[in-house]
Amino acid sequence: MAQYTPMMQQYLTIKAQHKDAFLFFRLGDFYEMFFDDALEAARELEITLTSRDGGNERIPMCGVPYHSAANYIKNLIEKGYKVAICEQVEDPKAAKGVVKREVVQLITPGTVMEGNMLDEKENNYLASLTSFDDGSYTVAYNDLTTGENSIALITDGWGAVVSELYNRPVKEVVIASDLPEFCQQDLKERLAYTISYQDDVTIEEPFSSLLEDIQQEKYKIGFGRLLNYIQHTQKRSLDHLQPVQKIELKQHMNLDMYSKRNLELMETLRKQGKTGSLLWVVDDTVTSMGARQLKKWLERPLLDRREIEVRHQQVSGFLDQFFEREELREQLKSVYDLERLSGRISFGNVNARDLLQLKQSLGKIPAIKETLEKFSHTEISRLHESIDPLTDLYQLLDESIHEDPPVTIKEGGIIKDDFNSQLDEYRDAAKNGKQWIAELERREREETKIKSLKVGYNRVFGYYIEVTKANLHLLPEGKYERKQTLTNAERYITPELKEKETLILEAQDKSVELEYELFLTLREKVKQYIEDLQKLAGQISKIDVLQGFASVSEKNGYIQPGFNEQRLIDIKQGRHPVVEKVMKGASFVPNDVFMDDDTDILVITGPNMSGKSTYMRQLALTAIMAQVGCFVPCEQANLPIFDQIFTRIGAADDLVSGQSTFMVEMLEAKHALANATENSMILLDEIGRGTSTYDGMALAQAIVEHIHEEIKAKTLFSTHYHELTELEESLDRLQNIHVRAEEYQGNVVFLHQIQRGAADESYGIHVAKLAELPDSLISRATDLLKEYETGTKKENTTEALDEQQLTFFEEVREEKPGKSTRTESKLLDQLANMDLMEMTPMEAMNQLYQLQKQI
Ligand code: ADP
Repeated sequence: MAQYTPMMQQYLTIKAQHKDAFLFFRLGDFYEMFFDDALEAARELEITLTSRDGGNERIPMCGVPYHSAANYIKNLIEKGYKVAICEQVEDPKAAKGVVKREVVQLITPGTVMEGNMLDEKENNYLASLTSFDDGSYTVAYNDLTTGENSIALITDGWGAVVSELYNRPVKEVVIASDLPEFCQQDLKERLAYTISYQDDVTIEEPFSSLLEDIQQEKYKIGFGRLLNYIQHTQKRSLDHLQPVQKIELKQHMNLDMYSKRNLELMETLRKQGKTGSLLWVVDDTVTSMGARQLKKWLERPLLDRREIEVRHQQVSGFLDQFFEREELREQLKSVYDLERLSGRISFGNVNARDLLQLKQSLGKIPAIKETLEKFSHTEISRLHESIDPLTDLYQLLDESIHEDPPVTIKEGGIIKDDFNSQLDEYRDAAKNGKQWIAELERREREETKIKSLKVGYNRVFGYYIEVTKANLHLLPEGKYERKQTLTNAERYITPELKEKETLILEAQDKSVELEYELFLTLREKVKQYIEDLQKLAGQISKIDVLQGFASVSEKNGYIQPGFNEQRLIDIKQGRHPVVEKVMKGASFVPNDVFMDDDTDILVITGPNMSGKSTYMRQLALTAIMAQVGCFVPCEQANLPIFDQIFTRIGAADDLVSGQSTFMVEMLEAKHALANATENSMILLDEIGRGTSTYDGMALAQAIVEHIHEEIKAKTLFSTHYHELTELEESLDRLQNIHVRAEEYQGNVVFLHQIQRGAADESYGIHVAKLAELPDSLISRATDLLKEYETGTKKENTTEALDEQQLTFFEEVREEKPGKSTRTESKLLDQLANMDLMEMTPMEAMNQLYQLQKQI
């Protein structure tokens, strides 16, 4: 240390306490960074790296200007870093030696409050994760911008924790330093979270009241960790924190991480963001509070039939009255983000414009209530009764805040007249003074006969009398004192003028000062309404989501689903909500889904690209939409309430963790088999394709049998193993269905129609025929197929291949005697390796064309 200058010593002492953050060290008009921070920040922020004398050596340094720091901080936070803001905390003039500096705020991805770093339509969650000796975990969440707190106790192991975390837009996770290593690794690598450590879990007053309803030790520890971290980073008022809500996992449909991803609920697998997801289709909210609420609903579909049906009735009520709904939408649009505003009020960073917007929003509430009253459905009029428009608060703001206040809160112009008598007096004094000055101008003009004489004001000289040079001769001697000379005018003052000036300026100063004080008091008063505002925000966002559901249901022709307890799925003319939307002009082919109590498994066969996976997904999405309270894309629906949905769909390789497709496939299957009940839905798309044919087929069959015998969950199973369709004969709760494809004028036409029974197996060969492959080749393929069907062919054994190659070889040689054996065997290898069922017809044709060229 000694080798460094005193300031660098101060820097190093502070930096030692903030090792995992960039330390923004205030030096004059800059925040400077040193050493490794400087090297890394220069790279990340693309700013110039310089150096500074630190005592015996030159120290790497880079800096960002104070006034534009926000953008740099944003950049770092978005990349998952933390930033510690270190300010001078004493007046440099008064300081002896190095100016005292302290970290005044720690900005982290999970605790940002700054508007420019937040997505309006998304919550910004900080989570804390705690593991207990009995194998259970708690996951606690906080959104600092809204004050929302919640906590879940998870007893189903680590996988369930990962799924739970994946549920929400979590930006940062707080853990104990001794959290098991495998957990830490998953959080960092698989979920790519910013990690923060916090070992202190004690909850101090007044925060213990936040846990009023949940006093068990595990919740206290879990939330305590979160709270301590927030206190540690924020160092300011946290009045807006809301009571902790217990997340009852068993009261919501359980969607594991794979399913959420596979079903593209919030974003597409290709990470194109929201577009193309279910959220994209069902979001017609008009406020950002509503948009955030909708995500929460989609994260946790309901299980309670009554609760779901109430939502449906509300949607139906909104749907019935178009004009009133449109009126309501317009009114909602002008409601400000009350939830985030409450957070900012608590933090003390709202200005008069925010309060004006709050007033304007509150001003809309009575009209919203009136509009709600116009709906004839009782579930909607009930909504209106529970809304408190906070009239007192509205009045207070209406009487106090000026209609067009400035952004700054220190320069006056905020408070209305008649709000405070002292303020009115100051203003009168200033106003009278100004009137006196106007009067003076009139008098002086009269006396001097100079029409262009005027009284002006500037910051340096205060009030003055200005006379143009041409008129100077008209001024009487001695009365005026010259103050300033301009090119063609002179400026004068008089003792009388200066006296008035002092009075005016004093009054103005006092009034500005008083306005500032009044504003702070007002802000404190508004703070007392935070809880009410949060409640109001909750109601408005719920109404917004429901009217949005009504609106999308109308636009897209969704209908209200019904529910049954007989495990019956009966969907008439169902559609895929996203695919039909993306197809725009072209028409989506609707399909029925029917599975009564006696049918648990549907095996779906059909060529690639015919619509198998679309059909499966549409069933899951329909169930989810129904259970969040939205209407569904079909003509009629009668559904059971699903407790869980499991999926194994598509090639969602877990690239991050480097697992192979097959391993992921098996992990997902295992997860489904271990957790599914007879009230669950399982979707398995082409399971087993990640390994060699017999392996895969055997596994697929065993999985189907296990579900059939042990689990009895409603299962859709698509496969290209035609053999599996034979299971219909032995398993009585299993049925075959297939997607129709037809040849029409030499082209393959996908009809996307689901029909009973298994698909025609020789489909791939049809395609080859269409591609006009040599007849001999087609007939050979047909023979081989028959052999496979009758089980006489041993696939993939060298013996079998040799045999196969020989016969084939001879036939080919007859046609093209000149070709070398090597080319031919290469050709045959290629043909043998073609996976017809895995190809689109176009791909098959192309490949066959290439092969044919080589013959
Ligand atoms: P598979 O799983 O059989 O390979 P997909 O379900 O992926 O096929 O469907 C392939 C494409 O076919 C989809 O992207 C969609 O464009 C179209 N498609 C699927 N089902 C339908 C349908 N019912 N109506 C219209 N087009 C459909």
